[in-house]
Amino acid sequence: MPSVIDDSCIKCGVCAGICPVSAMHLADSQMVIDPDVCIDCGACIAECPQSAISPDSEASAAAIQFNAEQAKIAPSA
Ligand code: SF4
Ligand code: SF4
Repeated sequence: MPSVIDDSCIKCGVCAGICPVSAMHLADSQMVIDPDVCIDCGACIAECPQSAISPDSEASAAAIQFNAEQAKIAPSA
């Protein structure tokens, strides 16, 4: 159950700095999480200043799809 970032992300980079498995990728419009890499530790959720990160059980289908697709083409953050 990976975490998912929504479009309120301001690309501050805080989450990328604390993720223990480097699951973050920097898409054009926002940070995204690679669902195949995230180990669901939850560390990033509490640290995001925008509250833009949530478990995929609470995320929109569009956000889940966007994170999965963009994580495969956007550079690692
Ligand atoms: S901490 Fe939040 S606002 Fe900052 S880059 Fe990560 S998801 Fe975006
Ligand atoms: S929940 Fe943990 S492993 Fe997943 S993206 Fe956030 S910090 Fe990284």
